[in-house]
Amino acid sequence: MLTFTPKGIYCPYADVYIDPWRGVDRAIVTHAHSDHARGGSRQYLATPVTKALMHARMGIDLNIEAVGYGEPITINGVRFSLHPAGHIPGSAQVHVEHKGEVWVATGDYKRQEDGISTPFEPVRCHTLITECTFGLPIYRWKEPREVFAELNAWWRGNAANGICSVISAYSLGKAQRVMTGVDRSIGPILVHGAVANMNTVLQECGLELPRWEHITKDTPKERFRNALVITPGSALDTTWANRMKPFSSAMASGWMQLRGWRRRANIEKGFVLSDHADWDGLLHTVRESGAERVIATHGYTDLFSQYLRSVGSDAAAETTEFVGEAGADLQEGTRSVDPPGRPATPAE
Ligand SMILES: [Zn+2]
Ligand SMILES: [Zn+2]
Repeated sequence: MLTFTPKGIYCPYADVYIDPWRGVDRAIVTHAHSDHARGGSRQYLATPVTKALMHARMGIDLNIEAVGYGEPITINGVRFSLHPAGHIPGSAQVHVEHKGEVWVATGDYKRQEDGISTPFEPVRCHTLITECTFGLPIYRWKEPREVFAELNAWWRGNAANGICSVISAYSLGKAQRVMTGVDRSIGPILVHGAVANMNTVLQECGLELPRWEHITKDTPKERFRNALVITPGSALDTTWANRMKPFSSAMASGWMQLRGWRRRANIEKGFVLSDHADWDGLLHTVRESGAERVIATHGYTDLFSQYLRSVGSDAAAETTEFVGEAGADLQEGTRSVDPPGRPATPAE
């Protein structure tokens, strides 16, 4: 019912693509990250929040039909519906049903609640296409509560010494998750323009965010001393960051689980905070779906599908052009590190 083509995941009965990476006639977009929401298509279908974010990022001319979670839409006898993926605000899994056969394409997803996204909803299907960005047993996330305790301790310590705390986080999703999770009594939250833009769109969509300030050239230097600055990694090596000196740098990402990655990114502190499912979350999702067949995309596909086969599942790997969380950040022009899209198997 769904096939993998050079343009993306395709439903031939409906002539619809899911997150195509080339221009097509009709595209369903799972979420507004740039490796999934691409321009050049004639008609898009997405959740209302994804629609608003796509307009903000890609222009107002896009022809996007908004469809809420769980609202079915039938194209050529194929029934499509979108269900919460818990990845970022507006993110969705795609449920596809034709003559009693059900497929689900997860898009990016996570099982932890993040305080900003509609939580993941398990969906039953015959065939599950799952991402597996972190599909190795070494990836097991701590409770977000614990990660935020570490993050607050770092910020509090810096603030006590008049050192600005600068955290690199993807401007859509991770930045708002960090803002929402930290202890705001420590100091002000200041954000880069890229983060400010996303904050504004999400607030217009009804998301409640704590007080934040957009950093401008008029922001007084003293304002940075006890502040938490949230920025895409790309801005850290530019003169934009000079005024914040002295500062301590950190990054919030699932890749921070790999120590070498933090060093390569030249970041002082790494917080393991991911918007993707960890190993247990992936396996839990496969089980809950009840799927007879699993297709792994996006990440450690070979190893993950191999593992599923070793425990008796019918599983295969497919290649896609999605680059993953940190990869998406690199597209924003982050610091000069190798894209960790498909890292070699770590020895640990
Ligand atoms: Zn994503
Ligand atoms: Zn992705």
